[in-house]
Amino acid sequence: MNIILIAAPAAGKGTESERLISEYKLAHISTGDLLRKAIKENSPLKDEIQSAISSGKLVSDEIILKLIENKILDKECANGYILDGFPRNIAQAKKYDEMLEKNNIDPGYVFVIDIDKEKAKQRIVGRRNCPKCGRIYSTIFEQTKPKVDGICDSCGVELIKRADDNESAFENRYQIYLNETAPLIDFYAKKGILYHIDGNTDKNYTHKQIKDILEK
Ligand code: AMP
Repeated sequence: MNIILIAAPAAGKGTESERLISEYKLAHISTGDLLRKAIKENSPLKDEIQSAISSGKLVSDEIILKLIENKILDKECANGYILDGFPRNIAQAKKYDEMLEKNNIDPGYVFVIDIDKEKAKQRIVGRRNCPKCGRIYSTIFEQTKPKVDGICDSCGVELIKRADDNESAFENRYQIYLNETAPLIDFYAKKGILYHIDGNTDKNYTHKQIKDILEK
């Protein structure tokens, strides 16, 4: 089973991915994580990637497509995978289609998690991540606050704030979402594999809506 998650920043893509992965034993392909890893490991493309990410712009399709193809052909993806953060625009979606066809892979389900802009902004400003396990917390919403301020419940390490989790990068990222990513909704609706999910309430409700569709 393969899944594409489309969502505005902070709609709950990362959190929902985690739950689907553990429940359905899927591989997780997050282009954002792959790019942050490339920066951390001092890849030759580090500077190009870093400057795009920190200003909230998109990294070039060429870099992204190379990262994706390597991943989906890996045996860890044999049982299915979740694409989190890819495709980000129509050009990437078309290239991805070709990749699937060439390798005889089913596109599976496409979920779009809808969220109001103001709600997304609030979530972004309060978002904190565990650098070790990747779990996402909030300084604002009670439900996802860590037990001890600033510390991961499971790993005990200090939580970090992503460089692009600020208001100005958010505006950029949201605008890019509207201009470049939202057209994917039409693209996949025409293929008959798109489902709308309401991401405005809480993570349990988001998950329930997706699960109901997968288990229909
Ligand atoms: P994310 O963690 O998915 O919010 O991604 C963080 C940043 O990584 C984005 O703002 C982009 O700069 C870059 N990025 C992630 N996925 C892609 C993609 N598919 N295409 C281009 N840039 C991407």
